[in-house]
Amino acid sequence: MEGALTARDRVGVQDLVLLEDYQSETAFLNNIKKRFKEKLIYTYIGSVLVSVNPYQQLGFYTPYHMEKYQGVNFYEMPPHVYAIADNTYRSMRNESSNQCILISGESGSGKTEASKYILQYLSVCSASNEQVEYIKSRLLQSNPVLEAFGNAKTHRNDNSSRFGKYMDIEFDYRGAPVGGHILNYLLERSRVVHQASGERNFHIFYQLLEGADDVLLSRLMLTKSPDKYAYTNQVSSPKYNSIAILYDNDLKYTIDGKCAKVSSICDRRDFVAVQKALKVLDFSPKNIDELFCIVASVLHLGNVTFTQNEDGHAVVERQHEIQKIANLLGCQYEQLLQALTHRTIEANKEKMQSPLTVEQALYARDALSKAIYGRMFDWLVSNLNRSLTNKDLMRKNVIGLLDIYGFEIFKSNSFEQFCINFCNEKLQQLFIELTLKQEQEEYRAEGIEWEPVEYFNNKIICDLVEERHQGIIDILDEECLRPGDASDNTFLTKMEETVGKHPHFITHALGNSKLRKTIGYEEFRLVHYAGEVTYSVKGFLDKNNDLLYRDLKVAMSESKHDIIKQAFPVTELARLKRPETVGSQFRTSLNRLMDILMSKEPSYVRCIKPNDAKMSGKHFSIVSYNTYRFDETLVRHQVKYLGLMENLRVRRAGFAYRRTHEIFLNRLVLIQSVQSYTHVYTDVTRYKSLCPSTWPHYDGSPRKGVDVLCKYLDYKEGEYRLGKTKVFIRFPRTLFATEDAFQI
Ligand code: ATP
Ligand code: MG
Repeated sequence: MEGALTARDRVGVQDLVLLEDYQSETAFLNNIKKRFKEKLIYTYIGSVLVSVNPYQQLGFYTPYHMEKYQGVNFYEMPPHVYAIADNTYRSMRNESSNQCILISGESGSGKTEASKYILQYLSVCSASNEQVEYIKSRLLQSNPVLEAFGNAKTHRNDNSSRFGKYMDIEFDYRGAPVGGHILNYLLERSRVVHQASGERNFHIFYQLLEGADDVLLSRLMLTKSPDKYAYTNQVSSPKYNSIAILYDNDLKYTIDGKCAKVSSICDRRDFVAVQKALKVLDFSPKNIDELFCIVASVLHLGNVTFTQNEDGHAVVERQHEIQKIANLLGCQYEQLLQALTHRTIEANKEKMQSPLTVEQALYARDALSKAIYGRMFDWLVSNLNRSLTNKDLMRKNVIGLLDIYGFEIFKSNSFEQFCINFCNEKLQQLFIELTLKQEQEEYRAEGIEWEPVEYFNNKIICDLVEERHQGIIDILDEECLRPGDASDNTFLTKMEETVGKHPHFITHALGNSKLRKTIGYEEFRLVHYAGEVTYSVKGFLDKNNDLLYRDLKVAMSESKHDIIKQAFPVTELARLKRPETVGSQFRTSLNRLMDILMSKEPSYVRCIKPNDAKMSGKHFSIVSYNTYRFDETLVRHQVKYLGLMENLRVRRAGFAYRRTHEIFLNRLVLIQSVQSYTHVYTDVTRYKSLCPSTWPHYDGSPRKGVDVLCKYLDYKEGEYRLGKTKVFIRFPRTLFATEDAFQI
């Protein structure tokens, strides 16, 4: 008995629903901390997997481990991301249903790594043949390409995904992958033209400069050094958003604002991998060349500067730069030069060329760089999809993988955080709805009476943001469309007029004197489910409008190059309607995503970052080891932002523990599993040995056996229920008593 308790004390419970004090955040934290110290980075909350980033290779992602988790009952092995992958795969096959795995967590918490482990598992452990192997390799090769163009080094993560990603993996009737489809969300395009001190632009810029051979470099008119290009050599004022900078691996680079080299990244090697992946994915040599031309053109665009002529108009300083860019983009030099310094306006039905000021020209240049890069990224995703589509093999079911940014609260929060946090509100809403639905369905299927759960429904916050005509997105759109004096500040006033009374919306003017001290004049605060976030309205209109002057669009649409031509279609110019704003587009794509996820059976991986230093612990001194390796304050925040306590509450509302009657009586242990997915189990006598009526001889039904056993163990009336196939136990202590009796 002593021994059993000690083990539980040392490594905590592997399912947090078994925490006696499940309302206590401290108990929750202590449990994951204990496990983390023992290198047990995974813990369940029911079927939700909580994962703490170890920042070191722990060696449990080998083919041996993959084999171990195949077809094993969820609870019979230690928690693992493979168990989630396997369970999802098996549910898909057994129930012929579509599944999805939602991975969330803040930057650097391990979402992308988790999604890669899942993809690998599904690829290795699913049925195969030659044709399928081909698809599998394509699915796996899509990652290096997307990461090169969509990931960057930030303070929080050396390989941070700067876009949200949802990927469907399609399987045929035998359970073999036959294709895939990717949806991308909100690429952080502002990074193309500006990065905070110590951060980098997207990896591909450095990969190209480091990895391209002399022939390619000279064709792209590039010199090897990132220092030569304004967009990769930011000497901006430091914008320290987190304490991460204090421990940054690349401290020597962060001091002067440049960080072209990152110790954890080998750009040259990664460039080789990207080139290889593009080939595997069937990108034509011409398209690959065009992609690199576009990346190079953006580097050159960053070096375009303007002076002011005597009339106060912008003039390009070194016109030969424009010649290079026009060449690389396949467009007309004169037209591009003109479009960078003028815009066509229509007055009295007459078209006129209006010269730009230097400030406007710089804005136009950066807008063009962002547009080119952003549209190239969309083009890349749609071409990846083309390559992942399999027309020959019939798809039956899918497993979707969602790897999307978690809740963000920085010192200064802007439009980007507003969109990201809105996305998290929507996902939280989905989670609550689906979990409750799943619980209710299980109770119904098992013939157990449903007990209502009290929970906070965050729909009220989603509505505040997205409701038609009176939500923040529409108020912002209205200001963006209104001619005249519309500005970020008038947007703030409009919000105060329209949603000022909403309980989740506060501004300086609306707050009481105490609140006023904490909210500035140009800020608004939203009370999110995960906490309060103060947003600065500065730049909201601009970012939502995301304006690219028509003349530049025309110049691009007339390009001779495939990618640019497709990315800037002429049809867009003919459209009279204003293009949809960024906020509206995001709302539409999020709601579409919700519909996709709603139609599937969800599983969840919740990722946690243990410290801000990106470190496993071996780099810290003994004194700082415990504080920094598992930074309790930091983890506590994440537990809150991820809504994990709410998670646990909903999951624990009824019964802490549930197992099929067979498993409760006997434990099933896998003795053999083979690639074809057939398994051989052996029974290990479990709790049935505690009762003379069920051991050593019992030949009744499992349900009856559990009934007899529970009565013999003196379980009280309210402590458990017998469903059709499962036994439900309300409190962990009941189970622990049985477990301890078993250990004696
Ligand atoms: P972002 O939102 O910035 O994209 P993320 O949640 O996707 O962040 P990852 O890129 O998955 O974070 O992880 C960050 C780093 O942490 C990885 O590059 C890797 O070094 C380490 N890491 C994450 N998960 C694991 C793991 N299971 N084992 C070992 N190292 C890990
Ligand atoms: Mg990521």
